[in-house]
Amino acid sequence: MTRVVVAGAGIGGLTLGIALARAGVTVDLHERATELREVGAAVALSANGTRLLYRLGVGEALDAVSTQPTELIHRDGRTGARIAAHPGGAAYRARFGAPYWGVHRVDLQQALAAAFVDAAGAEHLHLGHAVTAVDTDGGTLTLDDGSEVGGDVVVGADGVHSTVRDAVTGPGTGPRYSGTSAFRGLVPVDALPSLPDPLAIQFWAGPDAHLLHYALGRDDDTVNFFAVLCGPATWEGGTREARDGELLDAFAGWHPAVREMLAAVPQSPRWPLLSQPALTRWTRGRAALIGDACHAMLPHHGQGANQSIEDAVVLAHLIVEHDPATALAAYPRRRRARTRAIAASAWDTGTLLHLADDHPRLVERDRRFAGYLPANDWVHEHDAADLTTTTRSPA
Ligand code: FAD
Repeated sequence: MTRVVVAGAGIGGLTLGIALARAGVTVDLHERATELREVGAAVALSANGTRLLYRLGVGEALDAVSTQPTELIHRDGRTGARIAAHPGGAAYRARFGAPYWGVHRVDLQQALAAAFVDAAGAEHLHLGHAVTAVDTDGGTLTLDDGSEVGGDVVVGADGVHSTVRDAVTGPGTGPRYSGTSAFRGLVPVDALPSLPDPLAIQFWAGPDAHLLHYALGRDDDTVNFFAVLCGPATWEGGTREARDGELLDAFAGWHPAVREMLAAVPQSPRWPLLSQPALTRWTRGRAALIGDACHAMLPHHGQGANQSIEDAVVLAHLIVEHDPATALAAYPRRRRARTRAIAASAWDTGTLLHLADDHPRLVERDRRFAGYLPANDWVHEHDAADLTTTTRSPA
C-alpha cells in the first residue's frame, strides 16, 4: 500500500490529504504552523475548485459560510462607470455546475482540516512540524526536531517559499517579485454607503493601480478588498509597514466609493506580489510539488488556491490508480499546460487593469472585460477529476 508524506497543510496539502485518505491511502501531513489559522484574510473559489470540494464532501459546509457574488463587474476606477458585467450567483452556478464563493480563509482551512481528520484520523495531522530538508531519492522529509519521516511519495505543498521546491528544482528557482505590490483589508458592508453593488465581485481599473473586492462570509456583511499598485521597481524581503496615508495617496482622484473603502479600516502592511517563473521540473525521485510551491501566480484571476485544489485532486487520483513512479511521471503532464496558461493570463489581466488613460490597448481592455465569459469558460468549466479529458486552453 502506497504511503504518502506531505510538507504543508495549507489549501493544497489538506485537499490532497482528504482525497488520498478517502481512497484508503495512508497519508501524513507535516505543517510548520502550530495551529491552522488564517493565512491572509479571504479567498475566492470558482467552480473549477468548488466542484472538487463538493466531491470531497466539504461543499455543503463551505457553502454555509460563503457568499456567492451577485455579479462580476469591471468599472472605471475614477468615474465608477461600468465597463462590463457578468451574472454571478445562481446563473454562474447553473452555467458551470458549481458555485463561486467568497470565504474567510480560516473557515476554509478549518473545513478542510475537519474533513482530513475525519478521513485520516487526527494522528495523521502533525502541527508544529517544519520540514527543513528533503531527500528526493530516499523519499524522506527531515523535520526541525531532527527526526525523519518517509513515504513512497513525498509532496511539497509548502507554499510559495517551499523548502521541497529547492530540493526538486535547485536553489534560486523560486518566485520573482512582479514589480507590483498590494494592500488588503476587511470592511463591514455598513461602512460602505457609497459602494454600488456591494455583493458583487468588482474590479476598479485605472492607471498603475486597481482595486478588487468581494463580499464574503456567512452573513454577506463583510467586504474583502485587495488594492494593487504598480511598483516599487524592486523589493527585498516580505511585507513591510507603509507610511501613513500611502495607500490613500496612491488612489487620489479615484471614485469616492473606492476611497471610502480604503479609508474604512487601518492601513495594512504592503505586500510584494510574487510570480513563479514556469518550472520544467515538478518532480524528482519520489518527490512532487503542488500548488504555490510550483506555480505561485499573480492573484488577478483568483486562481492560485483553485489550482492548488486541482493539483491535489489530480495527484491523488494518479497515486490511487498507479504505482508511485507512474503517478509522478504522469502528474506534471496533466497539470503543467493549464497552470502555465492561467498564470500567463493572470499576468496579462494585471497589465490590462493598470493601463494609462491614453493607452492604445484601452479598447482591447474593454472588449476583453466584456467578453470575460465565455473567453474564460475554459478556466471555470474544467473538471480536474476527469482524467479522460484534455485541458481546453484559452481561445
Ligand atoms: P498555502 O496555502 O500557502 O499553504 C502552504 C502551507 O505550508 C502553509 O500552511 C505553511 O505554513 C506550510 N509550510 C510552509 N513551509 C513549510 C515547511 N518548511 N514545513 C512545513 N510546512 C510548511 N487564490 C485563489 O484561488 N483565489 C483568491 O481569491 C486568491 N486571493 C489571493 C490574494 C492574495 C493577496 C494572495 C497573496 C494570494 C491569493 N490567492 C488566491 C492565492 C492563494 O492564496 C494560494 O495560491 C494558495 O493559498 C496556495 O495554496 P498552497 O496549499 O499551495 O499553499
